[in-house]
Amino acid sequence: MFDLIVKGGTLPDGTQADIGIRGDRIAAVGQLQGAGAGRVIEAAGDLVSPPFVDPHFHLDATLSYGTPRVNASGTLLEGIALWGELKQVVTVDQMVARALDYCDWAVSMGLLAIRSHVDTCDDRLLGVQAMLEVREKVRPYLDLQLVAFPQDGFYRDPTARANTLRALDMGLDVVGGIPHFERTMADGAASVRALCELAANRGLPIDLHCDESDDPLSRHIETFAAEALRCGLQGRATGSHLTSMHSMDNYYVSKLLPLMAEAGVAAIANPLINITLQGRHDSFPKRRGLTRVREMQAQGITVGWGQDCVLDPWYSLGTADMLDVAFMGLHVAQMTHPAEMHRCFDMVTVENAKILGLADYGLHVGALASLVVLDAGNPVEALRLRPDRLAVVSKGKVVAERARNDARLALPGRPGSVRRRHLLP
Ligand SMILES: [Zn+2]
Repeated sequence: MFDLIVKGGTLPDGTQADIGIRGDRIAAVGQLQGAGAGRVIEAAGDLVSPPFVDPHFHLDATLSYGTPRVNASGTLLEGIALWGELKQVVTVDQMVARALDYCDWAVSMGLLAIRSHVDTCDDRLLGVQAMLEVREKVRPYLDLQLVAFPQDGFYRDPTARANTLRALDMGLDVVGGIPHFERTMADGAASVRALCELAANRGLPIDLHCDESDDPLSRHIETFAAEALRCGLQGRATGSHLTSMHSMDNYYVSKLLPLMAEAGVAAIANPLINITLQGRHDSFPKRRGLTRVREMQAQGITVGWGQDCVLDPWYSLGTADMLDVAFMGLHVAQMTHPAEMHRCFDMVTVENAKILGLADYGLHVGALASLVVLDAGNPVEALRLRPDRLAVVSKGKVVAERARNDARLALPGRPGSVRRRHLLP
């Protein structure tokens, strides 16, 4: 007897299986005909995937677009300045309400784990208070990892260091930083060294906004990899953005990527944001500003796709759909081979789960019973359609559902409805 059976779905590897759930765990995967269950979700013909994971987000700023004004230049630097204005006037209650609204969106889209950077450059630490409150409220259904992120620079902002330490003392989970925003390259490198030592001393993961720049000489990722090695942070160090790598000299990159692989540093590309923020100083040809995704993967480096922003000072759109993120990444990185498209789906599920170090993630017996049923036949079709999430299960509980919604047609001699499914042979 199971509490819930998800029946007949197609798993991401193409196998068809029923999934039996007891309590908050997956208890059986296989053919479960005749088994009793408190509830059955019929998923025949539908993709059943582990939940989506977003490894890079800013939950303290989300859904604030247009307050107090919009980002006119569309650049990272105006976004940071605008956020600086907004954080002077925003309240804890506003940040909590917006973040909880966003988490509702996320759950409805099958996005059940998020790593969010939280700005620690505020002597009142209001964002930290707000996000700790949100982390507790959503804990039953959404895993939220919080990064202590000195947005205005660990050294550039006079109280950032002290406030970042306080934020970690309050219970944030990950050490963050932004070396390319320090005043000089030397300060940036010094911040990387100090932050790696901080992560090592506290036994925490580290995830730096790193080289989010079109400057090919922004090479903090090199220092980061070397310091991760020196401090023993292999497997828990992540470089986010790494857009300068797009513009770097190929010879230099051929030495850099093996160093990253040796250091066990993962990478997160944020394609929705960086395709719009980068290249703003270029005329033509205009650089894409996405890091070298396929090239890192060829070296064995773990790479994830992150969403980064939804309706905030840096990005004016966004839907909490990690398939939108993977879809943009697939295009910008030209990952169009079937194996690469499948990899793009993995990059918003299993690979991101690895970056977050999520325990018991997946669709195997003993894993946490968290999954999503999509109105698509396989991962590549899911990327093409970015379809409705028919059911979302978190830790054994059905937390979101929607009815299948095929378009009705009124065409002479044609079918009465259409779903846009088209499975390749
Ligand atoms: Zn970010």
